[in-house]
Amino acid sequence: MTHGAEGDPTDPGSSDELAERKMRFLFALRSRGVTDSKVLTAMEKIDRGLFVRGIFSDRAYEDMPLPIACGQTISQPSVVGLMTQALQVNPRDTVLEVGTGSGYQAAILSQLARRVYTVDRYRRLTREASDLFHQLGLANITTIAADGSFGLPEQAPFDRIIVTAAAEDPPGPLLAQLKSGGIMVLPVGQSDAVQSLIKVTRTDRGFDYEELRPVRFVPLVEGLGSE
Ligand code: SAH
Repeated sequence: MTHGAEGDPTDPGSSDELAERKMRFLFALRSRGVTDSKVLTAMEKIDRGLFVRGIFSDRAYEDMPLPIACGQTISQPSVVGLMTQALQVNPRDTVLEVGTGSGYQAAILSQLARRVYTVDRYRRLTREASDLFHQLGLANITTIAADGSFGLPEQAPFDRIIVTAAAEDPPGPLLAQLKSGGIMVLPVGQSDAVQSLIKVTRTDRGFDYEELRPVRFVPLVEGLGSE
């Protein structure tokens, strides 16, 4: 391995190569429609490489979903960006995320919101994500192992809710825990079929639904996982 001052562009470990990969990562996000400058700044600051472990870690700056522990996936970065953008988070917001996974989405939300609650049905994932949040000094994230389809009644209502696993319909408890004026973004549809990313806005009269784009997520599963 070369460690010259100018770096070696063929050495994937060199800082020049890493900087270039990160630049291409941000460029790919923009070209796929992530244009909100606050979202882009958050995604520049939160290093996806820290949330992908093992053999896939050198693909962390590619725009693709990757396997994580417990047979789950870290979402495709452009989808993370588009969902975050659609959520229109304000600095005073309290946000609920269902589906902590690697913790990447929650870490990005932590840059934009006052407080983030993130839940996953696998204790192993919440424990590993929570350790990473501590290491990174992301003190406004609370990580909880629970079945997120019931939301978090004790912390509700929420200004924003994001679900990163697909249900056939928006879960009733989550709709009930959304504030008036609040926004929820989630994939809906059957797990192996094409799913749609939906934006739900709660108004004084009820709920408005907007279909954003086709997506593919792991399914929302009932109950706690075994790990
Ligand atoms: N947002 C994650 C990716 C999530 S993958 C990231 O940034 O990496 C979807 C996650 O949803 C998985 O970790 C899965 O365990 C979790 N999940 C599925 N059903 C759930 C449920 N009912 N309650 C909580 N989490 C659930």
